[in-house]
Amino acid sequence: MISKPPRQQTVSLKAVRYSSTPQSESTDDTYSGPENVEDYCKTHGTKYCLDKQDNCLSLFSRIFIENATQNQERVKAIFTSNDKGIMNVIQMLKCNLCHDILQASSIVCDSCKLCYCVECQENYVIETNSNCLNECSGEFSDLHDENQKFLLKCLKFKCENAQKGCESSFKTLKDLKKHEERCDFSFRTCQYCYKKKIMKKNLQNHLVSNCKIARKCQNFPKCAYIGTRDQVETHQEDDCAFTEIYCTTCLKTILRRDKDTHSCIETLRTLLCEKQNFLDKKTSKLSKITEENSKLRIMLENMKKTLLEKCEYEGKLKREIKRVTKESMKLTSPKKSCSKGSDLVTKRQRTVDQASPSRLKRTTRGRNC
Ligand SMILES: [Zn+2]
Ligand SMILES: [Zn+2]
Ligand SMILES: [Zn+2]
Ligand SMILES: [Zn+2]
Ligand SMILES: [Zn+2]
Ligand SMILES: [Zn+2]
Ligand SMILES: [Zn+2]
Repeated sequence: MISKPPRQQTVSLKAVRYSSTPQSESTDDTYSGPENVEDYCKTHGTKYCLDKQDNCLSLFSRIFIENATQNQERVKAIFTSNDKGIMNVIQMLKCNLCHDILQASSIVCDSCKLCYCVECQENYVIETNSNCLNECSGEFSDLHDENQKFLLKCLKFKCENAQKGCESSFKTLKDLKKHEERCDFSFRTCQYCYKKKIMKKNLQNHLVSNCKIARKCQNFPKCAYIGTRDQVETHQEDDCAFTEIYCTTCLKTILRRDKDTHSCIETLRTLLCEKQNFLDKKTSKLSKITEENSKLRIMLENMKKTLLEKCEYEGKLKREIKRVTKESMKLTSPKKSCSKGSDLVTKRQRTVDQASPSRLKRTTRGRNC
């Protein structure tokens, strides 16, 4: 049995306290980021190690309780009732083969009580022809320790950049490592001006807008190339897919990326098609105007006809008025006292009217025009 060093016990308890109040007194200045070599396990050369060694402590300090309000009391009870301290509690959650936190579906050796991920144990059998690290007979059960199962469910690791704003957290070291390698909040050093501690998510902005050395391609943002002044000039001259080049055959300007697929005939055909389309549009516009014109002409024709009819009618009216005026004058004149005479006139008039309607028509037409 390993005796518990008092210093480890202190740190372990702090880790549990830290989890209940995430924004603790720790600040960016005191935070030991990935640059800190002390974070690395000297035995395994990685910072993702849950060994009971002093140099792996930063990982323990990042363990927190998910849904703290519900689970905190029970976790605290497990930790305080366990006389071996947090380090040994964490060992209880470890796979003895991959040394990562056990996966949800894991197994425990019935004889020696060592725990393994199912996958790790299966691989171990294939590689060594043995079932267990202690070469037990090979009877395994699902995890059945309730405290162990509970802790596996609610303990998680915060990203190492939690203090800088990253809110990601993970159950296994494998996932934690995968995330931290490309966490947006991790620090990077500019490869051009060597400015340090630029957050990964701000690095592109630094290179594009703030770096004193780095230059961007003139075709930014279509082209994302960044380099020194010389590199960018060479890139634009020789490589940039978005630089415009001149086709000496069809005399058109094309993008360099289209150089291999560019066909002069195709380009000319497209140009011709564009012109044809333009022409077609104009033609259809013209035919529309012509159509409108003919409509207007018909309308004009109709109006002319109506006018003629009106004129004709007016002429008839005028003649009628004249005739009536004449007759009324005859009637009102002093000679008209002879009623016989007047009868005669009326009779003659009627005969004339009946005899030659064509003559009347002819005269009317002549007058109307
Ligand atoms: Zn280690
Ligand atoms: Zn494993
Ligand atoms: Zn065993
Ligand atoms: Zn992160
Ligand atoms: Zn820079
Ligand atoms: Zn470019
Ligand atoms: Zn061409």
